[in-house]
Amino acid sequence: MLRTHTCGELRADNIAQEVVLCGWVKKTRDKGKLLWIDLRDRYGITQLFLEEGVSDNNLFEQARELGREFVIKAKGTVVERASKNPELPTGDIEVRLTQIEVLNAAKTPPFIIEDETDGGDELRAQYRYLDLRRNPLKDKLIMRHNLAKEVRNYLDKQAFVEVETPVLIKSTPEGARDFVVPSRMHPGEFYALPQSPQTFKQILMVGGMDKYFQIVKCFRDEDLRADRQPEFTQIDCEMAFVEREDILQTFEGLVKHLFKTVKNIELPDFQRMSYDEAMEKYGSDKPDLRFGMPFVKLNEIVQNKDFKVFDVAELVVGIVAEGAASYSRKQLDALTNFVQKPQVGAKGLVYVKCNEDGTFKSSVDKFYSQEDLSEWAKLMNAQAGDLILVLAGETNSTRKALSELRLEMASQLNLKDKDIFAPLWVLDFPLLEWDEETQRYYAMHHPFTSPNPEDIDKMETDPSAVRANAYDMVINGVELGGGSIRIHDKALQQRVLRLLGFSDEEAKSQFGFLMNAFEYGAPPHGGIAFGFDRMCAMFAGVDSIRDCIAFPKNNAGRDVMIDSPSIIGLEQLEELALRLEIAK
Ligand code: ASP
Repeated sequence: MLRTHTCGELRADNIAQEVVLCGWVKKTRDKGKLLWIDLRDRYGITQLFLEEGVSDNNLFEQARELGREFVIKAKGTVVERASKNPELPTGDIEVRLTQIEVLNAAKTPPFIIEDETDGGDELRAQYRYLDLRRNPLKDKLIMRHNLAKEVRNYLDKQAFVEVETPVLIKSTPEGARDFVVPSRMHPGEFYALPQSPQTFKQILMVGGMDKYFQIVKCFRDEDLRADRQPEFTQIDCEMAFVEREDILQTFEGLVKHLFKTVKNIELPDFQRMSYDEAMEKYGSDKPDLRFGMPFVKLNEIVQNKDFKVFDVAELVVGIVAEGAASYSRKQLDALTNFVQKPQVGAKGLVYVKCNEDGTFKSSVDKFYSQEDLSEWAKLMNAQAGDLILVLAGETNSTRKALSELRLEMASQLNLKDKDIFAPLWVLDFPLLEWDEETQRYYAMHHPFTSPNPEDIDKMETDPSAVRANAYDMVINGVELGGGSIRIHDKALQQRVLRLLGFSDEEAKSQFGFLMNAFEYGAPPHGGIAFGFDRMCAMFAGVDSIRDCIAFPKNNAGRDVMIDSPSIIGLEQLEELALRLEIAK
């Protein structure tokens, strides 16, 4: 090594030692007779200094030439600092320089390389290598490494085997568009990049591998929503000879292990809730359970009192915001505006203030007496000082809107505590989802998910009532992972594919390989996949997964550092037999 120690290593114990450090010049301070250099590397910062009368004059000259982010090798003696810096692990010492070697000069960086920087997102993305020198990014990458290491530790102990599956494959339907790669050797033909290794991991089960996992890149060509990456990482897992309960236990165990080893947090046992219950109580299949505010259906007590809006509504439903009766007119108007935003989509908002003196003040006083409102409060378990918020309309859209309002109120009332983790399994998802636009069913999870055995009879007669043997892991309103028990029987797989609108020929050409495999001894099996980037973001306590990826793409799916995607030459297009197609 060019160095004897790192910049985060030296302590009082090292005093009087001769050391060599390498790193980047964070800053220099020149006081004429004294000159200091803060030297930074991945491990920390060490203060170097020169002193008139003691240090060589040439060294002063040399040090004055150093710019920010120059890479240097510095030799010197460790001495005790006169004014110690308790903020810095190396703050008890400094290094009296005897030699400086510039390993590489550097241009002035376009933003400051400190924990708090002045660089905007785009600029930092373009100079990602400079951004990576900052602690907030560096620390997240190290934490990501630790998470991956503990995933491997835990699963290895449980006899899982990490197996790599191919990247050049053919379509695996997970509900997004495929990225495709043209084949030069087979003009006009294309590989698809995996949306997930789903079919391969199932085939590994047929291959007897029994317990598989992989930390793996997946690719989905989706319209870019905030915080989506076209390529992302999953912890992908599959097990044979299991039932749902085995999977839930194994992977609840994994996530508890990760929280314990990486964050020293003991997670409680996970709550469980059916999809139907989650939708009824929270209007969401990924409810944030750090706080309550469950929905209360009000139809029975509010209808037939001449309030038209409620009378014609399929669902009248409300939540109680604790302690919010003190909301001002302005705050209530802002809430109304919030629910009327197109993304939320409610027509209006009804409120009831439960005053401290036991009276009620509502936006519908014209239609409802104090006794009526007292009945609402009783049903909703609202106390004096609370605010009742009610929406009405068609069931699904009203639930969705109230779910948004519930989350908004939680933010306003500071109930989203970053240090609390409320884990949950959501179970019994519907197997299928009806799409109005295309007038057909889609698999809610993917086409390989097994229906609940008791519902199989309803598959053709009442498809939307069929529940899937599928589960999601949700923590604090974030879907961390999802999976299912799979179909392992060719005939049942064919039936599901038919429901999804595949002709037998289409099914054969797309998934024939899987159905063939099912004919050669497929064991019962099931699995799960976790969004690893999202998991890292949760562990780091940040909202954006981009901060936890070394080289992410921006909101428009571009890598602005390498400038990709980019145009390719005509020659290359021709070689790939693409030129004609594009000209058309
Ligand atoms: N392949 C699924 C997904 O990517 C996960 C699973 O079913 O195991 O969501």
